[in-house]
Order: sequence, then C-alpha cells, then structure tokens
Amino acid sequence: MSVLPPLKVSECFYSIQGEGPSAGVPAIFLRLSGCNLTCGGLNTCKTGELDNGATWRCDTIEVWLKGENVSPHNLILDWENKGWLHNIKNGAHIVVTGGEPLLQEDALVAFFQTLEVLIKKKLYIECETNGTIRPASDFDYFISQYNVSPKLKNSGMPKDKRINGHAIQFFKRSEKATFKFVIRARDEYDQLLGDYITPFNINKSKIMIMPAASSRQAFVLNSLPILELCKQENIRFSPRYQLLFWDKTTGV
Ligand code: SF4
Repeated sequence: MSVLPPLKVSECFYSIQGEGPSAGVPAIFLRLSGCNLTCGGLNTCKTGELDNGATWRCDTIEVWLKGENVSPHNLILDWENKGWLHNIKNGAHIVVTGGEPLLQEDALVAFFQTLEVLIKKKLYIECETNGTIRPASDFDYFISQYNVSPKLKNSGMPKDKRINGHAIQFFKRSEKATFKFVIRARDEYDQLLGDYITPFNINKSKIMIMPAASSRQAFVLNSLPILELCKQENIRFSPRYQLLFWDKTTGV
C-alpha cells in the first residue's frame, strides 16, 4: 500500500446530523484538529472566557485543540471494525468537521479516494466550514454538500480574519453550499446583512439561521426569537439536535 498523508483527528463518532439542511440524517462524524479562527475571542483558548466583544464561544474548542495523526488506512480499518463502512454503504453521510477541515484538504482528498475505491460507491460527504478557505477543485469533486458558517462580529474575530471574499463568492456560486449563520438577536441579523447578504448578494434561499447556544437550556431559550425572525424574513431555521438530545456532551 502507498503511504498516504496522515489526518490530524480529534474524534470520530456515529450519530445523526444535528444542524443544517440534512439535520436528522445518520452520519459518521470525522472531527479534525485545528482551526484558523478562535470563536469566542482571540484569547479564549487560554482563558476559556469570551473576549473582544464575542457573545458566544466555539462549543468544540477544547476538542479540536487536541488531536493525533492517523493514517487514512488505519482510520478506514477502525471504521470497518466499528461497522461504520456498512452504515456508509447503506447511505449514512460522512460529515467532515472541526475545527476547520479545509486546513487538511490534501490529506482528506487521499482519504476520500481510498475510501471510495473500497466502498465501490459514491460517498455522500458533507463539509462543515467557516467559509474562510476556498476549496481546491480536487477536494470539491468529493463533496456533496457544504455547510458554510461564516462568522459575524459576535464571534469576537476581527473582520480580516473571518471574511475571505474569494471563498464566500465560491460558496455563493456552488449549488452544494448552504450558509448557516449563528445569531442571538435581531441586531446580529443586521450584521449578517451588512457583512454577507448585501455585499455578496447572497440569495436568502441559500441561508439558514441557527440560535446561538452552548447548552440545551440556552438553545430552547434562544430559539423562539430566532424562529420569529425566520418567519419575518422568510429564512430557514436550523435546529441543533445535538444540544436538544445530548446537551453539552460532544462526540455522541
Ligand atoms: S470556526 Fe468553527 S470550529 Fe473554528 S473556532 Fe469558530 S466555531 Fe469553532
């Protein structure tokens, strides 16, 4: 067997997709280590607190900060032992998430190629991304669905770090992409309009809004105003089933 580049993996688990256009679909989650943003503020990794005006914090930061190098062959063997290849053959999605999975684009392409040859069928791969990196064409070839979550000022990230116009244009044109924005209140919807919808002329049919929350209680509390906003603006609401069912537990 040829030596393929390793993936830096934080965790893998079989669950259902909790968010976005395919919420509810059974899926194998491949969470990769590392991100080019630190939502919650520039110092949030060190302090665990919100800073720089952030109103929410990445709920997986402590998970994607960790990770170990795994060869694609060993990852596939592990999935086979867990019975997940059988699930994939029967239609389960693969969700590559993070962190920011596009930071490991080349290793992912090698992994997808190897897995697709083994499974002998086209995989349904969802890529969850913060929308700051434009995918290369060999990566794009394997992706069935992009769940793009560009960040607003409420993430505590400076504008030059969280908005890459070339990447946003790519996802705007891609039929495979849906934008999923996390907001807590009406004024944050205005940020969304000002930073993305208006300047990039993004059609509202490509957008979903998800309430900011990092616990079941906060999700239930924050959902009603966001549901009302979705009704007023005719925009799709995104659930967060993982919070409803498993609260703060990740990797389930
Ligand atoms: S971009 Fe996503 S993974 Fe990265 S810090 Fe923000 S919420 Fe977390």
